[in-house]
Amino acid sequence: MLGHSTLILCDACGAEIPDKSAKEVIYQAGKIRYRLELCTGCLSSEMKRHNGHRGVPGFHKRAAIVFSIPSRDELPRQVRLTQQESLKVAR
Ligand SMILES: [Zn+2]
Repeated sequence: MLGHSTLILCDACGAEIPDKSAKEVIYQAGKIRYRLELCTGCLSSEMKRHNGHRGVPGFHKRAAIVFSIPSRDELPRQVRLTQQESLKVAR
């Protein structure tokens, strides 16, 4: 893998971003947590959309941002669409 660079696909907009620019974000909906990686642009719009956040140690990153959401409907749009698609496939 030396000499290769890993790109992360932003879970909200699908943009390709270098691994070191991806931000690990956790959405906590009750007892369920969703882990996403966002580009800096989506992260800053999510920061504006949610009132407050807290930081925790990340799974892949040193730090992750946690947003508390009332339900999975509050997840960024792209994720919701993808999950609906995979539900259709599963049926
Ligand atoms: Zn993005």
